[in-house]
Amino acid sequence: MIPTSCARFGATKTIIALILAGMWSPLVAAPATEPSSHARVFLTFDDGPIDVTLNVLEVLRRHHIKATFFVNGIHLTGQGGENETRSAEALRRIIADGHVLGDHSFDHMRHNSTTGIASSVDTYRDMTSDLRYFVPENRAIVNAALGELAARPNNQVAGMARLPYTNTWILPGYQAVCGICTTDSDAPAHADQTPASGLSATRSDGIATRIAETLFHEYGMTIFGWDIHWQPANWQGPASSETLEPAMSLAGRINALIDRPPCASDHTGDSIRCQHLPRFNKVVVLTHDFLFENSARGRGADINIPQLEQLIRTLQASGYRFDTLDRYF
Ligand SMILES: [Zn+2]
Repeated sequence: MIPTSCARFGATKTIIALILAGMWSPLVAAPATEPSSHARVFLTFDDGPIDVTLNVLEVLRRHHIKATFFVNGIHLTGQGGENETRSAEALRRIIADGHVLGDHSFDHMRHNSTTGIASSVDTYRDMTSDLRYFVPENRAIVNAALGELAARPNNQVAGMARLPYTNTWILPGYQAVCGICTTDSDAPAHADQTPASGLSATRSDGIATRIAETLFHEYGMTIFGWDIHWQPANWQGPASSETLEPAMSLAGRINALIDRPPCASDHTGDSIRCQHLPRFNKVVVLTHDFLFENSARGRGADINIPQLEQLIRTLQASGYRFDTLDRYF
């Protein structure tokens, strides 16, 4: 007789094999794992809208889930240097399909780069002039491209922002508890910081920090960072998109994070301040639209669109709900 634990393991292996083969529908099977009740995953896509955003939206539509897009209006002008001839169409589709739009600055702070391409080294230089790349510039261009869709409540380009290169959080009602959980204008590009490590890395003297504080206090915007970064293992290679972390690996990291208390025990200095943060049972995943296109960065559409579908299927099978950041609280 097979011991119960072995039988369970066999069933789990079968489910995983079927998921990998794309032959298993999460709608008819029991959850493979039991996440905490009401656990939610917030997929966020940065640096669009570009042509391939339309393909990402098609995946989300097929799986009946919503996501949040932090956009750079420069793509709407055709000056963004990406495949972006359908950028305005993608922007309007984001809103029409019920996803949420947020502000990611007009040009990803490229105006400060000495090399002409986006760089994390010289990202922020001047509080006043850099702020204008969020408000009014990005907001105005996005709203103009949206036309009458700009009035939809899921257009949050005036309501929420993510600062390029900066994992900064300022949440309404919690600014006194943990006003800025982490920010660093010299941070490595899109550093993957967990809440625990991020909470211990407060810097209040950076320009990015002051921009975030101004957007929050003067413009009433919520500032979102991220908990997990779904990114290539190698950003620099000729086919960087093809090194995107496998979906099952990412799902494992989300699983590990979702039940974790807001403050880890090795950050006891922060635990009193942070224990009320509304981040328990919620994981914000950062990724980028351009990772899902076939381009000079590699075969992102061929490889990563199926990975995105697998991630969604796996997380849904595990009982997670997908949600948008306007519903974070
Ligand atoms: Zn970005």
